[in-house]
Amino acid sequence: MKFISTRNGNYKITGTEAVIKGISPDGGLFVPESFPKVNLPFIDELCDLTYPQTASKIMALFMDDFSEEELFAMAEDAYKCFSDPEDACPVVNVDDAIFITELWHGPTFAFKDVALSFLPRLLTACKKKMGNNEKTLILVATSGDTGKAAIEGFKDVEGTDIIVFYPEDGVSEAQKLQMKTSGGQNVYVAGIKGNFDDAQNGVKRIFADDSVKEELKEKGFALSSANSINWGRLMPQIVYYFTSYCQMVNSGEIELGDEINFCVPCGNFGNILAGWYAKQMGLPIKNLICASNSNKVLTDFFNTGKYSIKDREFIKTTSPSMDILISSNLERLVFEILGRDWEKTALLMKNLKEKGEFEIDKKTLSKKAGCFFADYATLDEVENAISVVYESSDYLLDPHTAVAMVVSESYYDQVEDDTLTIVMSTANPYKFPQAVHQALFGREEKDAFKAMERVAQETGEPIPYALLKLKETPIRFNDVLYPLELRDKVIEYTKKTR
Ligand SMILES: *Cc1c(COP(=O)(O)O)cnc(C)c1O
Repeated sequence: MKFISTRNGNYKITGTEAVIKGISPDGGLFVPESFPKVNLPFIDELCDLTYPQTASKIMALFMDDFSEEELFAMAEDAYKCFSDPEDACPVVNVDDAIFITELWHGPTFAFKDVALSFLPRLLTACKKKMGNNEKTLILVATSGDTGKAAIEGFKDVEGTDIIVFYPEDGVSEAQKLQMKTSGGQNVYVAGIKGNFDDAQNGVKRIFADDSVKEELKEKGFALSSANSINWGRLMPQIVYYFTSYCQMVNSGEIELGDEINFCVPCGNFGNILAGWYAKQMGLPIKNLICASNSNKVLTDFFNTGKYSIKDREFIKTTSPSMDILISSNLERLVFEILGRDWEKTALLMKNLKEKGEFEIDKKTLSKKAGCFFADYATLDEVENAISVVYESSDYLLDPHTAVAMVVSESYYDQVEDDTLTIVMSTANPYKFPQAVHQALFGREEKDAFKAMERVAQETGEPIPYALLKLKETPIRFNDVLYPLELRDKVIEYTKKTR
């Protein structure tokens, strides 16, 4: 299996190279040259396997430089730190009609752990395969959850350093503390004055700056990305669509071959795109429901064909990991919608960068991406969903999952469909304790730890120890930078390291 760039189909490399490079030199993202197809007997077999076994079977279809055994060894090691390594992403039946896949049983309590526990192992193995002795400098712009998950994945990994930038005023207090207290000799963390898009653009500028690459090369470093544009981030996420499906078969909710829907809280569009890839491979998925918060740029895109960040205010919500206006992974879907016309894809992305918008005609959109339904949830709807679901089903939603819960309901209001829907749950509710507190008790609690304790007292849901412990952990990183300072900070860091 070869990989091509969404902006140049003649640029062909192996999956191994795609993982090492992260992003194509032309600015495009790497996509598989074709989608490997699976049939029902293959899926049937998966239903008897553990999570790491399924992961190795799916990923082997893309990464033919690796044997299934090699991939299994990496997956087994990666998911050791999950609550139940053999069932890393369990499906919970909350209520007769509500099914939830919990993607947050990893070390940092958000769905990013699923991919970021695996990526460091994969990247190290890819470099070994290529005889690549360069040190890797991972640069991350985070809306909150990627940063900590990437640090946990990469800290003290040989031959790798990691720098994380987060928007100073755009992440939850618990998320910020998780990052600022990080250990690891190869880690640097700083806040950025601005929002997530400012942080992401700052990092993209460094990737596009040849003078930075030259300076780093002299010191033996090559840049790479742990953001969800990296193929190595996307691929492990395809796996849990298969394991979710199999769990529905195994519990008798559906029969093998029946279709199901997935409803996904979206930000950078990586999670739901992995679901669309699973559908292209042959997993019986009917519709993919794209849930946004008030930053509803994706909702508008799917409903009008126009993706526009012009005249759009960046709104801070209770689901900060979805406060994003530029959904990087949408480029991969746009490439498919345009029939893999890379020149046109490059043009539309240029329009987005220069004019703040691009447009696809609605006919093409509904023909090629008709399985997407998109809607959004307001702050009030999110708050309400958290309290209603807790009251009726004794299940505590985090605000991101609550966005998806609201939108899955509006899906059934608007579309006549008796297919079951699985809601993807992306974070443990204690990662966003103030929002949950507000929803349950109708009043604000500014102190994150007091909010956690009060919620725990009321619901009896235990607070994860690693979150509780943050209260006593000393702060290690206190820098806050302007976006234009990022470049020099990165250079300075590489001068300091061994
Ligand atoms: C990252 C994140 C999302 C958004 O996922 P994308 O793959 O960027 O669309 C949603 N919820 C939580 C909790 C996240 O951390």
